[in-house]
Amino acid sequence: MITIVIYYVLVVTVSIGYHRLLSHSAFECHPFWRWFFVGIGVLAWMGSPVRWARFHDDHHRYADRDGDPHSPVLSGWRCMLLKGYWPKDSQEKRVRSLMKVPAYRFYHNHSVPIATGTGLLLFVVLPFELFINAYVLPIALFHLLAYRIGFVFLLHKQGYRNFETPGHDVNSVLAFPLLLGDAWHNNHHKYPLRPSTTVKSWEVDPAGWVVKLVSRTHQHNG
Ligand SMILES: [Zn+2]
Ligand SMILES: [Zn+2]
Repeated sequence: MITIVIYYVLVVTVSIGYHRLLSHSAFECHPFWRWFFVGIGVLAWMGSPVRWARFHDDHHRYADRDGDPHSPVLSGWRCMLLKGYWPKDSQEKRVRSLMKVPAYRFYHNHSVPIATGTGLLLFVVLPFELFINAYVLPIALFHLLAYRIGFVFLLHKQGYRNFETPGHDVNSVLAFPLLLGDAWHNNHHKYPLRPSTTVKSWEVDPAGWVVKLVSRTHQHNG
């Protein structure tokens, strides 16, 4: 049970932190939430947020054509093995502006020690069974189900389109149990700057609901 709960916490928080906030600047919030949501992605072994944002930029820019670094249409299941990826055209301006944000710069420079240190700490302090169920399994399932099976096999193949877009992106009902609102991938490619992926009322997006709540902290804190 705890594995499933933490799996969905990862699905929602990584979508909010790495994807919508960091990569697309799709909403404003208090800086605390930047540290919080992107930090959870770092703990879940998502790697440098700056590099992630850069290859996600290219995913949208080239959308399943040459130059898209994580298109399953071009490179199959290997498309998410991007550990060493750094774009040739390094888009210095974009990287510089991401590195100006303290949370992104800090996590970029320290993502591996933070993830490793937290893993070791949890291994020491948690009972072994809890360490497996609450840390190892949810993170492993997240990378496997959400970012391999969901993204690779479903979001480009098994679904319907609300919009004509340049790539092969589809909305996938089958991917919803794995990815929640990120299953509405065609909606996201049409409107990448929107904080929610909902277009039709039944295309629910729990991460978008959380974003709505978190955006209020921006207004309250000026
Ligand atoms: Zn996409
Ligand atoms: Zn995106």
